[in-house]
Amino acid sequence: MRSRGISSARITVLNRGASGSTDFVLYWMQQSQRAEYNHALEYASGQANEQNLPLVVLFCLMDGYPDANLRHYQFMMEGLLETRERLASRGIFMACRHGSPGDIVPELARRASLVVCDRGYLRHQKSWRNSVAQRVPCPMVQVESDVVVPVDLASNKAEFAARTIRPKITRLIPEFLHLPEELPLKRSSLDMAEGIEDIQDLDKVLSRINIDRSVRPVGRFFIGGTSRARAFLETFIERSLNLYEENSNQPQTDHVSRMTPYLHFGQISPVYIATRINSAHAGKSATEAYLEELIVRRELAVNFANFTAHYDRFPVHPAWAQKTLKEHEGDRREHLYTLEELDQASTHDPYWNAAMKEMKYTGFMHNYMRMYWGKKVLEWSGTPKEAYERLLYLNNRYFLDGRDPNSYAGVGWIFGLHDRAWQERPVIGKVRAMTASGLERKCDIRAYVAKVEAFSPSVGSHANEI
Ligand SMILES: Cc1cc2nc3c(=O)[nH]c(=O)nc-3n(C[C@H](O)[C@H](O)[C@H](O)COP(=O)(O)OP(=O)(O)OC[C@H]3O[C@@H](n4cnc5c(N)ncnc54)[C@H](O)[C@@H]3O)c2cc1C
Repeated sequence: MRSRGISSARITVLNRGASGSTDFVLYWMQQSQRAEYNHALEYASGQANEQNLPLVVLFCLMDGYPDANLRHYQFMMEGLLETRERLASRGIFMACRHGSPGDIVPELARRASLVVCDRGYLRHQKSWRNSVAQRVPCPMVQVESDVVVPVDLASNKAEFAARTIRPKITRLIPEFLHLPEELPLKRSSLDMAEGIEDIQDLDKVLSRINIDRSVRPVGRFFIGGTSRARAFLETFIERSLNLYEENSNQPQTDHVSRMTPYLHFGQISPVYIATRINSAHAGKSATEAYLEELIVRRELAVNFANFTAHYDRFPVHPAWAQKTLKEHEGDRREHLYTLEELDQASTHDPYWNAAMKEMKYTGFMHNYMRMYWGKKVLEWSGTPKEAYERLLYLNNRYFLDGRDPNSYAGVGWIFGLHDRAWQERPVIGKVRAMTASGLERKCDIRAYVAKVEAFSPSVGSHANEI
């Protein structure tokens, strides 16, 4: 069943409360921070038109969002500025308020006939929605827009591996590769700006909010916003899509899409990316390889976060991997580093140091090097648990796309999550290994090191050069 082109599988009623006030329909935007191809926004627009009401969008800007720092906030604010402008061009007023959603949404909802929210999969995102739903005086509906296949439809449990979720997702993809129609609003809400509290100087607000400022923004490499995301995607399609499969383990090249920072903040729709890749008429195997990552692998991570209560607490890996790592916990480590030495990229391994520097300088890292980076921290820490905690800390601190379902699944993979047993080795047991000699054999790792050196803060300017 579809509601104005939006499948009912994307829609969950969180509160069936009686219709409240009649000033406006309220869309509380949190995960899907974009003005286009946003199912929650279009659902809210349709409801506003049906009720002949204006639509107001609300975004709550919190102090100390879990694990976020200045790098993340800067990127998010760049995106929000663009989203607010684009909503205004559609006659939709977007209020930005400083504070937690649990306080602000119920307060503004007193004037709303209906609250619509988007869907997030992390613990705090779920708990905000549940607590807000209990406190709003009107109906509240959640609309899922940041996956291709709705997570509860794909599966009802945490899946074992890509091979177990792939057939379940693949058969549903054709049904869900539809972009929601953009609905013109019958009534503008722009004149409501007078009566609704709002931070008008969004570009200056960053200096006032209370956040961790110890990690530098990375505007030289990534600027937030839907139009930047689209520009990256178009460049990728034009220059790299046909080389994507071939170069997926070649970190010295740049034949990847760099969509994750934009996907993490909901600044671009995965449905849009997938339809655009399909319409690019690239080679069949390149298209399939890309969609395997974007849909199957990414949505396996969403499945993991959604159905694993402690997706961010050691151990997250399966029993066979726990057993083998336990058996090797007492093995002598050839190298042991402190967290500070790792953070400073000062190990004996120039390839690993380059990966750590790429992450710190740019907020991003090629997937192949993320794998190597994680595997080495497992080998160089006192225990697997210590390694897990260090990896999550560094991952979420420096990556723009950190703090994402993909972060927890990616770090979990280092310990055997979604993987199988391999040949047994010291320290890591039967968990998959990656070695420096493997990098030397399979890719031009020295060219990768040179590429990262050129990113160094002291070398030239690279503003959004991809
Ligand atoms: C230790 C480790 C940590 C990781 N941490 C993160 C993280 O914090 N945030 C994050 O988004 N990803 C993480 N990943 C997964 C992966 O490395 C990134 O998603 C990918 O490198 C992003 O680059 P891209 O957008 O250019 O991807 P592309 O290669 O262009 O792929 C297209 C899209 O497919 C999806 N995708 C690609 N590779 C993977 C993968 N291995 N798993 C799931 N989805 C994938 C992403 O949405 C990506 O944007 C991690 C992987 C590992 C091994």
